[in-house]
Amino acid sequence: MKRREFFGSSLFVGALAGANQDGHARVQANPQRATQQGEVVIERAVSGKPHAGKVLAAIQPHSDDIPLFAAGTVAKLISEGYTGYLIRTTNDEKAGRGATMAEVVLNNERDNDAVAKALGLKKVFNLNYRNHRMDDVSRQEMRGRMIYLFRMLKVDTVLCYDPWGHYEQNPDHYVTAQVVESACWMAAGSRDYPEQLEGGLQPHAVQERYYFARGPQLVNRIVDITGAIDQKVAANVANVTQGPAGENGAGLRARLAARKLRLPILGTEDESANRQYVKYIVLDYDSQYLRGVPSDREVGRAYGLEWAEAFHYIGPIESRLEQYIRENAVPLG
Ligand SMILES: [Zn+2]
Repeated sequence: MKRREFFGSSLFVGALAGANQDGHARVQANPQRATQQGEVVIERAVSGKPHAGKVLAAIQPHSDDIPLFAAGTVAKLISEGYTGYLIRTTNDEKAGRGATMAEVVLNNERDNDAVAKALGLKKVFNLNYRNHRMDDVSRQEMRGRMIYLFRMLKVDTVLCYDPWGHYEQNPDHYVTAQVVESACWMAAGSRDYPEQLEGGLQPHAVQERYYFARGPQLVNRIVDITGAIDQKVAANVANVTQGPAGENGAGLRARLAARKLRLPILGTEDESANRQYVKYIVLDYDSQYLRGVPSDREVGRAYGLEWAEAFHYIGPIESRLEQYIRENAVPLG
């Protein structure tokens, strides 16, 4: 891991300025919070399977969220040994192709399965709350289901929308994120949802969180996804029902051909057009318009990387008490 000064990047100045306005002098004694505000950690690809035995949950309200914002990191972590699951919280009934709502739901469910396959995720769980109506859902009920999954799957790490991301418009995004945030620590409690424990599950804390956002965010981790970019592209090409990716490259190629034009970057086949469009237009050239976030290449360039994703990362904090005892304890009497 290589640390760089947060202030060196103009990309995140907006987020930093918002974060620095008030009160942070009070929390400088907490090393993790100081890291979040002062530095960015660059997470690079590592060889071997350092995460063997660990479990991640990629959690998204809609079938295109993880592909657009975190698929490179999911693919990277899976290749480094994680076992992964995909949890989708809505039924995606409001977005994309289909003559009826039921068709839209089915099309998105199929896409979501294809996303999991493209990223090497082992199984999909669909909570199927109604799309765009998640602020109607009982958070208690949803939290109970999320905690059940975290305990059953023994989830160590989650990737999800940032529950504290600013200016998020979609209630599905912030409701899901807030429930995930609370479920991560509550899953460790021995008195929360005790019937799950009676049923054979054990309390289990989620240790690591990678939060992504469409608006200003405290970014403290840049993940090098250069080795996983083609898998990220594949996960986005899988989303044919909704979102900016899917088969839009082939569509653009056809529209240009009708005007007797072509873009060389799209190649000569529909398949290559879809891949290249996602890689160079959706994730790069027109990213701000199509995804609402800076290009993955621009994010990487600021840190000397080819392709990168940005997160607010929260990891475990080690207790220093044992060290204090070793250094300071004296014999009784
Ligand atoms: Zn979404």
